[in-house]
Amino acid sequence: MVQASESESRKLLGSLRDAMAEDSAGQARLNRIVNLTAHSMGSEVCSIYLFRDNETLELCATEGLNSAAVHQTRMRVGEGLVGRVARYNQTINTPNAPATKGFRFMPETGEEIYSSFLGVPIQRLGESLGVLVVQSKEAREFSADETYALEVVAMVLAEMTELGAFVGDGDALSARHQKPATFEGHTGQEGVSEGVVYLHEPRVVVTNPIADDPDVEQTRLDDALQRLRVSVDQMLFEARSGDAEQLEILEAYRLFANSKGWRRRMEEDIQRGLSAEAAVEKEQSTARSRLEQSNDAYLRDRLHDLDDLSNRLLRLLTGQGSDTGAEVPPNPILVARNIGPAELLDYGRSLRGIVLEEGSVGSHAAIVARALAIPLVIHAKGIITEALNGDTIMLDGDQALVHLRPDEGVQKAIRDKIAMEAQAADRYIELLDKPAKARCGTQVSLMMNAGLMADLPSLSSSGAEGVGLFRTELQFLTQNHMPKRAELVAQYTRVMNAASGQRVVFRTLDIGSDKVLPYMTPTDEPNPAMGWRAIRVGLDKPGILRMQLQAFLRATAGRELSVMFPFIAQYDEFQGARAELDKAITREKRLGHELPHSIRVGAMLETPSLAFAPDKFLKEVDFLAIGGNDLKQFFFAADRENERVRKRYDTLNTSFLNFLEQIVGRARETNTRLSFCGEDAGRPLEAICFAALGIHILSMRPASIGPVKHLMRRTDLKALKEVIDKARNDGHQSVRASVIDWVASNT
Ligand code: PEP
Ligand code: MG
Repeated sequence: MVQASESESRKLLGSLRDAMAEDSAGQARLNRIVNLTAHSMGSEVCSIYLFRDNETLELCATEGLNSAAVHQTRMRVGEGLVGRVARYNQTINTPNAPATKGFRFMPETGEEIYSSFLGVPIQRLGESLGVLVVQSKEAREFSADETYALEVVAMVLAEMTELGAFVGDGDALSARHQKPATFEGHTGQEGVSEGVVYLHEPRVVVTNPIADDPDVEQTRLDDALQRLRVSVDQMLFEARSGDAEQLEILEAYRLFANSKGWRRRMEEDIQRGLSAEAAVEKEQSTARSRLEQSNDAYLRDRLHDLDDLSNRLLRLLTGQGSDTGAEVPPNPILVARNIGPAELLDYGRSLRGIVLEEGSVGSHAAIVARALAIPLVIHAKGIITEALNGDTIMLDGDQALVHLRPDEGVQKAIRDKIAMEAQAADRYIELLDKPAKARCGTQVSLMMNAGLMADLPSLSSSGAEGVGLFRTELQFLTQNHMPKRAELVAQYTRVMNAASGQRVVFRTLDIGSDKVLPYMTPTDEPNPAMGWRAIRVGLDKPGILRMQLQAFLRATAGRELSVMFPFIAQYDEFQGARAELDKAITREKRLGHELPHSIRVGAMLETPSLAFAPDKFLKEVDFLAIGGNDLKQFFFAADRENERVRKRYDTLNTSFLNFLEQIVGRARETNTRLSFCGEDAGRPLEAICFAALGIHILSMRPASIGPVKHLMRRTDLKALKEVIDKARNDGHQSVRASVIDWVASNT
């Protein structure tokens, strides 16, 4: 066997490049590659095995083994030496294959006469695509250089597979990213849609893995590394007063960007014939496989950092980045690892859907998606590696399913569902001007939640009777500077104008918890949802609260102002907040500004404690708004952002309903206006139950108003209350099943 030295591997890569330039495709191209590799490595056998499906590998080309076995010989992952290479993503190098653990003899291939075996994974960024093998009769171990050369060929093969270079011949030759794939995640926003994948940050595609001139590649790498170092220093400078964790990550970036070991390995790859970007990707792949195998949290974090840094370097080298110049296709469905609210707003209503690999239901991106009524599926694991720009994609937000490149059957089912939803939407349009009057005659008021300018058109198109919750923090969150008072006045005035006389309830800033303003020093709290947030911040550092109150007063001059304070846990917090409002009123009067003609001041009931506040408090507030998202999380001690525990507790749980009913009773006794404005108000079943318990003002996202009104108008709330009472008396943990049964036959 010829020792594959550095220049050997360069020669091998050179002939591979020539082979790729030839006008061959599919099977012919694979045959050419195994032939070249066997000859230039001086081995009798070279074979390529590719994944047929997630579990099975298929022999797709061979030089030296029985050619009749091609596309016939298959093995499961983990089976035989080839299967083991694929399972563990690790090279096997042995002089005596038959005596090696895991060996399985495949008689149809005629491999019994070969002793040595070298198998390397064909993988791209840690994702296994197949196995590349050389075998020889002579019993010998392959040298490190030979192993390296084969790994490089495997890498080139991986790139070609990625680019679809083998599509067309033979079953297993259909490249990845061609087959239908389904992902199950969690629902962020219901709705069904069809569109085309638009990647928020497209993966960098390396189209030139093999290079002519190592010196040119070396200069390109040096230049890109230099630019990378400058950008990391810049990030560090900008984050210097940021939180400790972010600084730690950036320091790790700086270490890697200056790492001699990392650079040396990439230089070696270039000397062996790889292009600069292929060298970066080869190192990235190695780090990814270590990442997959490591259980050490610290090491995993650092490998993630290296991965991210490699992506940045690849973007610098290829000029591909967030702004790839890829045009937004018609009917785009955005696919991203995660996304911030501001970025999402940039895309606006043009999106047909959003799929996130990470994300959470309570996040601001989710709130924005809901405000824009765009179906959203979160936690769709693996979507980032599988989806390519331009793929057909169908989203079922109701079932939390994402169908990538769906087959005809799935397409038909989804299209039927879209048609049904469109029919339902038509039904809701008919209801637009009709009241949400239940069959028993009870009038329920349906209002909408808002927070963005993008929400305002919904005021007329949804049939809402006003804004029951205006989340003012969204404006703060979507900017990278603290808004000025004049900006606040302008925004609130636009909201009031859009409402044209309907009620708008402004909520003062609810920051803290997961809502961190980019321009404020973050506090390092172990439990931010129960930490220094909302009115607690407002009272301790009243600067922003005062500015906001003043802006509310100015924007509602001559009209009615309704303002509420979030996260009031005890009476004196309400008194403190109200005192701030009184001071702001006095100041405005002194300045000679016109005041609102009436002012209503309320509190959000988001902690169980407030339900037991003194009567005096209840008499003093003009209204109470139940913030069900927070109230439920504190009632059950279940984090609203933690998908695992959130779903464990049903909103229609008897204990929770008993608790709500108690609040209704106290509000009635003290003649206090009561509303419910958490996400649950927008779920038709929940909404009719709340109404049956006596909560007659519900505020929800605009898209929910139609479905809630539709069911409300068909429901006899008195009869429903009896169903709820019976389920409670019968000792059911949740009334849901009884209510569903009853609704099915009585509405
Ligand atoms: C709530 O907690 O129910 C609520 C409406 O407030 P937010 O979702 O903004 O915390
Ligand atoms: Mg809340």
